[in-house]
Amino acid sequence: MTSSSESSFKDLALIEPLLQAVRGEGYEYPTPIQEKAIPHILVGRDILGCAQTGTGKTAAFALPILQQLFKNRRGSAARPVIRTLVLSPTRELAAQIGESFRVYGKHTGLKRCVIFGGVNQRQQVAALKQGVDIVIATPGRLLDLMRQRLLRFDALDILVLDEADRMLDMGFIPDVRRIVSALPANRQTLFFSATLTPDIRHLAAGIVREPVHVDIAPSATPVDNVKQFVYYVEKKDKRELLVHLLKDPSVSRALVFTRTKHLADRDTLYLTHAGLRVMAIHGNKSQSARQKALKSFRDGNVRVLVATDIAARGLDVDGISHVFNLDIPAEPEVYVHRIGRTARAGAEGIALSFCGCEERSMLSNIQKLIRVKIQVEREHPFVSWVPEPKAEENRTKVQSRRHGRPFRRSRRRRY
Ligand code: AMP
Repeated sequence: MTSSSESSFKDLALIEPLLQAVRGEGYEYPTPIQEKAIPHILVGRDILGCAQTGTGKTAAFALPILQQLFKNRRGSAARPVIRTLVLSPTRELAAQIGESFRVYGKHTGLKRCVIFGGVNQRQQVAALKQGVDIVIATPGRLLDLMRQRLLRFDALDILVLDEADRMLDMGFIPDVRRIVSALPANRQTLFFSATLTPDIRHLAAGIVREPVHVDIAPSATPVDNVKQFVYYVEKKDKRELLVHLLKDPSVSRALVFTRTKHLADRDTLYLTHAGLRVMAIHGNKSQSARQKALKSFRDGNVRVLVATDIAARGLDVDGISHVFNLDIPAEPEVYVHRIGRTARAGAEGIALSFCGCEERSMLSNIQKLIRVKIQVEREHPFVSWVPEPKAEENRTKVQSRRHGRPFRRSRRRRY
């Protein structure tokens, strides 16, 4: 992870219980988003942040929130009141944020509770009844509990909206608006999104007040330390190519993206038949099945995890060596999110994408967005078709202009 050598966490005026936790995690320097956002959050400013997961965004909001809550406690230590609400689009991300609050706040005594659907609400309600300082929730279940009058937000000071673009994609905005309208207007709001499209800006406009803009890398720019390759391969050969590539022992932990839940199951079956240890996560799996798969993947008991985009959103597993894209996503930003699952916390990662003939235009949209020409891997056993001459031609034209010679093409290159 890129971090600044200029400042340390101490320069950010963080209190000792937090510095201790950060040291315990082995963090030496704040990352750019932490350096930029923490001072503003500590003085109570609203934030409009454009940053992907993998940039250290969670600590960028969790640390200053914990500091504010620790310094100005309300309620009794035994029965605190909710002062911070974090909204997250998926249960996986909510669980990860909850875990980050636990880790960073372990010396503060502050209490938190994670709320999401798909499981019985009993445990979550019991935790709320005991009193918590921080609630991390997905919108649907939170609204359910609010309707049952199981939580009160009158003492709320801080609202965090994480991955707002994904909330929009998943159709959660009406729920988010309903929740926000039930919160005290006089609050601090931290709004994060991987992309700041006009829709997202419009949403933010009604929620944040005079925010400080914190922009980490232009939106949708992939992490620099991901090496990207593309394989041109026919659709029917994609799974076989995947098995072939997974045989490479340097693929120590692989995340395979596939378009639909149905395909995820079929790909998993195919890989299992090929003798690989593999599990899947997607929306049709129960919460416990997903958590089991994630745990096995994290613990290294399975080397390959097949996932759909929604299920993998916000997935934070260190040490993913390879991301495979079995399809080329139609939305270029999805590609950026996918490959961001590797090369986390400063590690190097590799992203391999399989492009069928009919997917070329989507690949070219991705390349336009990331402003990088993805390297074509020409050596593989399933080479069967030729990329459209136009793209090749343009490239050669540019090259020949640079060399001052007229462009002449003798024959179509095959690979
Ligand atoms: P996030 O963007 O919050 O998902 O964080 C991505 C990863 O970076 C997590 O595994 C964090 O534990 C790690 N991380 C966060 N802040 C730092 C830091 N200052 N130095 C090193 N690693 C960090």
